[in-house]
Amino acid sequence: MHIYADNAATTAMSRKAIEAMLPYMDRVYANPSSLHSAGQEAKSALEDARRRIAALLGARPEEITFTSGGSESDNQALITAAEIGEKKGRLHLISTSIEHHAVLHTLEKLKKRGFEVTLLPVEPVTGLVSPASVASAIRPDTALVSVMYANNEIGTVEPIAEIGRICREKGVLFHTDAVQAAGHLPIDVNRDCIDLLSLSAHKFHGPKGIGVLYARKGLRLSTLIEGGAQERGKRAGTENLASVMGMAKALEEACENMEAGAARLIPLRDRLIQGLSAIPHSALNGDRLHRLPGNVNFCFEGIEGESLLLLLDDKGIAASSGSACTSGSLDPSHVLLAIGRVHDVAHGSLRLTLGEDATEEEVDYIIRSVGEVVGQLRGMSPVWRELCAGERRFIL
Ligand SMILES: *Cc1c(COP(=O)(O)O)cnc(C)c1O
Repeated sequence: MHIYADNAATTAMSRKAIEAMLPYMDRVYANPSSLHSAGQEAKSALEDARRRIAALLGARPEEITFTSGGSESDNQALITAAEIGEKKGRLHLISTSIEHHAVLHTLEKLKKRGFEVTLLPVEPVTGLVSPASVASAIRPDTALVSVMYANNEIGTVEPIAEIGRICREKGVLFHTDAVQAAGHLPIDVNRDCIDLLSLSAHKFHGPKGIGVLYARKGLRLSTLIEGGAQERGKRAGTENLASVMGMAKALEEACENMEAGAARLIPLRDRLIQGLSAIPHSALNGDRLHRLPGNVNFCFEGIEGESLLLLLDDKGIAASSGSACTSGSLDPSHVLLAIGRVHDVAHGSLRLTLGEDATEEEVDYIIRSVGEVVGQLRGMSPVWRELCAGERRFIL
């Protein structure tokens, strides 16, 4: 068996997205900034993709900027909002303790420039951000609220529309990292009162190294990359046209299949959650209901996540512990700590993110394999022996 259950880290490219790219890696190679007709053909493809992507978000084409991916979009969104605030003497930024590092590390950098950052705590276990906590954190000098649409580790879907409404009422800019939500949840920047939004194509079966920054009309984006006047002067560099075309096709396809995909995935996800819950001293991380369709994240007491992954890999299952970006480091996931898991428990975490093509047989194989591997690791674990002997207290 070969099961790829790491779709939150990246997805396989869709066949249609690959096919949409090919002409732009072959015949249509001219520079979209060139005035000759070959350049204009490239330019019109670029603008067509921009219109199609804007339509899927409820946005206008001029509100869409192409970037190198989710990380760049997050950086540019936060720096933009901070610099707009700075001009008005508003130096306070609000975000949450469970954001992606592209947000958290940008906030750290902004702190060094004199901004004050409030990181809101989240509800224990579920990881939900309470809209009331956002409302009470907003001050007269708040420039930005940034809350992710859905969390990449624990799959929790945040109450974005409510938070957006609060920000709009209070006149504060609202950014959301929607990288994990795109293609899985219907996004509408107007309904949700979103001013800035980040997307990444490789999380919805598009190519890597391309993304979108949505910025509401009238917001002047700060530039991260200086040079030519591409992207309305807000992101210099010859456009990655082939990737843009692949991204547009992938997003269209994902949005078309969204409902059918969720209807297939949710029962499989719930079967997996139910199966893994039967393992003693285990616990689900994230909210049971407000959850991405393919996300399952568990802690197993008395084991170590890295060994779990390696043994699952031997059984043909590609999974993840915490997020891909932090794997390899010994620090437990900041998200699991933020939802209240203690260090030892957070270390024994497993994230399985199913693709739309997952089957019931695969889910049952995963349940059986995880059960076997957890048993095997606990059999060799001194911590587990102490727990069973009553020398240490079970937490889960
Ligand atoms: C993957 C991811 C990113 C980073 O996107 P890249 O395109 O890989 O830079 C940012 N935020 C979230 C929530 C992600 O899952």
